[in-house]
Amino acid sequence: MYGCIPAHTLFDIGKMNTSPRWSIFTESFEKFYGKKFDTGKFFENYAKPENFRKLYHFNHRGPFSEFQCKFNLIIALSVFDEKEIKKICLDVMTEQLEKKVTFAEYRIMYSPGEDKDGYFRKTLAACEGLREAESVLKNEIQGKLVLSLHRNNFQEPYRWVKEFMQKEEIIQKYLTGIDFCHIEEGFPPSDKKEFFQKVLADNVSNPESALSILYHVGESFQDKSPKSAVRWVIESAISGAHRLGHCLSLGLNPELFRLNSGIELVKERLDQVQFEIDHYELLRTTGETQELDSLRSEFDSLSQREINSQIKIAINARYLLQLKTFQDFAMAKIKEKGTVIETCPSSNLFIGMIENLKDHPLKRFLDSNLNVTIGSDDPGIFDTNLKKEYELAGEMGISLSKLDRIREKSFEYKSEILSGRQTSKNHPSG
Ligand SMILES: [Zn+2]
Repeated sequence: MYGCIPAHTLFDIGKMNTSPRWSIFTESFEKFYGKKFDTGKFFENYAKPENFRKLYHFNHRGPFSEFQCKFNLIIALSVFDEKEIKKICLDVMTEQLEKKVTFAEYRIMYSPGEDKDGYFRKTLAACEGLREAESVLKNEIQGKLVLSLHRNNFQEPYRWVKEFMQKEEIIQKYLTGIDFCHIEEGFPPSDKKEFFQKVLADNVSNPESALSILYHVGESFQDKSPKSAVRWVIESAISGAHRLGHCLSLGLNPELFRLNSGIELVKERLDQVQFEIDHYELLRTTGETQELDSLRSEFDSLSQREINSQIKIAINARYLLQLKTFQDFAMAKIKEKGTVIETCPSSNLFIGMIENLKDHPLKRFLDSNLNVTIGSDDPGIFDTNLKKEYELAGEMGISLSKLDRIREKSFEYKSEILSGRQTSKNHPSG
C-alpha cells in the first residue's frame, strides 16, 4: 500500500507531518551513498517535483539496500496512523483507477514491535479506507487487504487477525490474505510448513474467513547456491503457499549464475543432496543431473561435517547444465501444484539487476505453462503502473494475445478464490 504512493502525494504527506522520523531515512541514505543527508531545509530543497521524484524513484538497476533507502523515505515522511492510512487508500486507489485498474490487493506491514491493539486499529483503518475509497470511486475499482507478517514473528499476529475477523465484519470482508516479504535469507520455507498447514486447515473449517498465503521467495539468494535457491521455491509451493513472489531463481537463464560464489552452509547442501536423491528418477528423465552414487557418497561425507560450517560448490559448465534440469523439474512440480507466480518486471530488472530483458524468467514460466500474474510491486517507488509492466513483458517477446490471456486469468488468482472463500464461477473476470 505505502509503496504505491505517488511522489507528489508522499511529498504532501511529509510536509503535513510535524515530526518526520528522519533518522530512518538518513541512516540508510548515509550507509548507501556514503554521504551525509541534511534534512534542514528539506521541503524547500525538494519543492520542485522533479527534485523530489529523483530522490524517491528507484528506476534504475541497483542493490536492495538502495531500494530500502527509498522505502525508508516513505517510512520517514509518513505518520502511519489510522487517519493517514485511510487517506492513502483513497489516494492510491484514485491513482490506480485512472490507470484503469479494476481490482487490487494491497499489502500492508506493521513494525516488528506493533502490539495487538495496533494491529487491530491499523487493520480496521485500512479496511475502512478501502471501503470508503470504493464508495467514492463508485465501485469502479475494488481493493482488498493482505497483511504482510514478519518472517520470524507470525504465529501470534495470525491468531490476532483471525480474532479480528470474527469481531469485525469489515475486516473479514476486506482482509483476504497473508504475505511474507522482505529479506528471505535465513528463513527457509520448510520452517513454515506446519504453519501453512494450519492456515489451510483453518481455511477449510472456516471458509468465510479463509486467507490466501502469499510468499516471496527466490528473489534474493545471496546465501546459497543456485540449485538451493530453486529448491526453496519448490518447497514453498509444496508447503502450500498459493502465490509466490518473484521466483527469479526458478527461471533465470542458468548462464547468469556463472559468477555465483557457490558458497552455502553444509546443512543447505545436505538438504539439496537429499532432495536430489529423493527425486532422482524424475530428475534423470528431465535432463543432465548428478549421478545417484555421487549424491550418496557426497551425502555421507557431508554428514561428517559441522552443519553450520560453509562449503563451496564449483559452479562450472556441468553445474549449469544440471541447474537447467533442476529448474525444469521445479517448474513441472509447480505446474502440477497449480501455484501462481507473481512477476514484477520493473522490480525484477531494478532490484534483481537482470541486465537483459530476454533473461527475465517470465518467458520460461509461460513456456512451462505456469500460472503467472504481472504486477507492479511498489509502483510509487518504481515510478510504474500495470500498463507499463505489461509493456515491459511485451518487450520480453511475449505476444499481445498471451499478455491478454494473463490479464484475464489474473482474476482467477484473487486471494479469495485461491483460499477457497469464493468459487471462480461466482466471479467472472471483469
Ligand atoms: Zn514484492
